[in-house]
Amino acid sequence: MSQPFLYFALPDIGEDEIAEVTAVLRSGWITTGARARQLEDDFATYVGKGSEGPPLHAVAVNSATAGLHLALEAVGIGPGDEVIVPTYTFTATAEVVRYLGAHPVFVDCDPDTLNITAEAIEQAVSKKTKAVIPVHIGGLTCDMTGILDVAKRHNLKVVEDAAHALPATHNGKTIGALASDATVFSFYATKTITTGEGGMVVTADPDIAKRCRIMRLHGMDRDSFDRYTSDKPSWAYEVVAPGFKYNMTDIAAAIGIHQLRRLPSFHAKRGDMAQRFRDALSGLPLIMPAMPPAGDQHAWHLFIVRLTSDAKLNRDDFIRAMTERGIGTSVHFIPLHRQPYWRKTYRLDAKQFPHAENAFKGAVTLPLYTRMTADDEQRVIAAVRDLLG
Ligand SMILES: *Cc1c(COP(=O)(O)O)cnc(C)c1O
Repeated sequence: MSQPFLYFALPDIGEDEIAEVTAVLRSGWITTGARARQLEDDFATYVGKGSEGPPLHAVAVNSATAGLHLALEAVGIGPGDEVIVPTYTFTATAEVVRYLGAHPVFVDCDPDTLNITAEAIEQAVSKKTKAVIPVHIGGLTCDMTGILDVAKRHNLKVVEDAAHALPATHNGKTIGALASDATVFSFYATKTITTGEGGMVVTADPDIAKRCRIMRLHGMDRDSFDRYTSDKPSWAYEVVAPGFKYNMTDIAAAIGIHQLRRLPSFHAKRGDMAQRFRDALSGLPLIMPAMPPAGDQHAWHLFIVRLTSDAKLNRDDFIRAMTERGIGTSVHFIPLHRQPYWRKTYRLDAKQFPHAENAFKGAVTLPLYTRMTADDEQRVIAAVRDLLG
């Protein structure tokens, strides 16, 4: 008796999301409008909750990649600048630096957390360094205290790639509410909440928020919703820069409004599942994902394990065997220094990144998402134990 294939990830879309999307479709206003505004307000409130910092601004965009581009542009990154990024991440983190004619400077990861470290950043700083993009891999918060300290001493802008980090915290503060210049979240289909495609820039700096709002819509000083709802004539706007087309539709925002409301229950479920995986998979030749220090909360977007060198199977064979058992897995990440474009353009050598190389060799991400049933979970556990025990 064969079971259906267990996908590596699935979105968790409820009837409330579907009803809200239907209402948007029937309303006649399907692009950026009242729902996008509402999602921005709800998101800023969510991230700012419990922190006594300045009020936060949230800018909804059509992807985190767009959001990272906007944030870097808004903090003033331009041609010839250097921006420090981890090699252990998705290519979007580095490609946005190239969009602006600037150069990513790749650094190795911490061998335990897989995150970029304050020390690695400090060693990579040059006269041209203008910014750093920390990435909270899998949802485990970077040492933001250390990173913000290095950034302050070297006058670097900090734009967090928080694509995995909703809802993660550092020292009790929600990611997005720290002292970084901007923090960017992803609502891609596999992330902890989704809008199909989408993202959010969060910042405490009103000037950065304003610049992102203008640049996400053609560099126009008023978006069309503002034009049709204010008393100034709706045809009047000024183009103040050659902007982009990065706005979020109300169709997408309608999904996001309900996904955000469900985030606490999604997160509780992910955390419980991660704990059960850790317990059930202990004693195998596997390195479990690092746990957050006291005061930090893991978002549990990804459950990344690493096969040790004494495991019966290597990583590639393990993935093949899992697929044969009908279980999807993934690899986070193929380090950027291994990708042809980055390797050739910046003459990168694997020897510069020993920790990322070592982590990549054994890394495999197990399925962990809210639509998994107790049976699905047991299937994953049984397959891993069978293959590696
Ligand atoms: C998913 C992801 C992104 C890009 O998010 P999009 O919303 O798909 O643009 C950026 N960085 C990291 C680390 C990611 O995993």
